[in-house]
This record gives sequence, structure tokens and C-alpha cells, in this order.
Amino acid sequence: MNQKSILVVASHPDDEVIGCGGTIAMHTAAGDQVAVIFMTNGESSRGEAVSANITSRNKDCEEALKVLGIKNVMKFDYPDNMMDQVPLLDVTKSIEIAIDKFKPSIIYTHFSEDLNVDHRITHQAVITACRPQSWSPVKSIFLFEVLSATEWNSNSKSKFNPNKFVDISDFWSTKLLALNKYSKELRPFPHSRNIKTIEALSIYRGATVGLNQAEAFQVERIIE
Ligand SMILES: [Zn+2]
Repeated sequence: MNQKSILVVASHPDDEVIGCGGTIAMHTAAGDQVAVIFMTNGESSRGEAVSANITSRNKDCEEALKVLGIKNVMKFDYPDNMMDQVPLLDVTKSIEIAIDKFKPSIIYTHFSEDLNVDHRITHQAVITACRPQSWSPVKSIFLFEVLSATEWNSNSKSKFNPNKFVDISDFWSTKLLALNKYSKELRPFPHSRNIKTIEALSIYRGATVGLNQAEAFQVERIIE
């Protein structure tokens, strides 16, 4: 078996499951090495009871990653919803540390035009850290969509335009289990960060390419 090394770069704990939880489950089932890094704790901008919330979200995250079969995790502590306040160079260097450690050939990360500022900065830092130099292990970069961030971007920006589809029909139940670990991050329907909407999107993305359920990605780069 040709084992691959995969790195998921997410701004907040829950982005990895919403964006590519089924694809992560597919990779781990195939025996690939998957690492996930988080750039913020996802809580510090929310005001009340911050440290208790961070602890609780870390626990949810740990459980969700266990469901997905992830053992390699790195967490950075950039300010939640304020990553535009820190030098891009610092964020880039953190991602370079993770690339150095995990030597991924494939990276999954955020779309460049998401409404959430942390997602945009994370995207920019990944692209900067993955300058296509001969020594870089990174050969492919795929961008995932996160409901309530990707579809809420400004109409003046380019829209998420997927051109890679991963069949997650066999992995939806695993994604659902992982999503439920983040139940505090989910909102009542018709908010788009909701199980019903996330499932509907997977059915829609699948049906557009003749599959039952899919996760869709925009290809940033493939080097072969
Ligand atoms: Zn996020």
C-alpha cells in the first residue's frame, strides 16, 4: 500500500470535520498518515467564561479527532477571529513547523475568500508556507468549504468553485459521529452550520457528480 502523508490546516476546532471530515476518514481508513493543526482555540473572541469554553472545546476536538482516527495534532494559540492582528510571517512560520514535522504531500485547508477572517489568513499563510520550491514535500493543496463561512463571503469576491470531489458515501456515518462531538458549535436549522444542512450539502455535492454523498474541494495546486 502506498501510504500518503496528509496535513489538514484548520483555523478552528470543527472546521476540519465540517470541511473534510469524510475525506479524513477515507484517508485514515486507507492507512494514510493524517495530521491536523489548528491555528486558534476558536473561543477567545466569544467573551464569557473563556477558559472553561476552551477546555470544553479542546475536549470535543479530542473526541472528534479520535472518531476520525487522527493521532497527530498541533494546536497554535493565535487570537480567535483576530488573526489579521498578527504578522502573517508568524502564522506562516507556525505552518512551516508543521510541514517540517509531518512532511505532507497533500494539504487540505481553507478557501481564500471565506467570510471568516481567520480562514482567510490561514489560507494565505498556507500558500506562503507552501511556496513551490524543489525541497517542499507538498505536492497538492486542496481547499475545503465550511458552511457559514464559505457561502457567506462577499458577493464582490470569487465564489467557491469546486473541481475535486471525494466520495464520502461510506464515510458519512463517521463524519456525523465526529460532527456530533462538536454539538456546541452547531446551530438550529435553518442556520447553515447544522447537521441537516451539512448532510444536504454532501448530497448535493455528490449528486452533481453522480455520487450519493461527496465533499467538494477547489484545487489550489497539483504537482505530479
Ligand atoms: Zn472556522
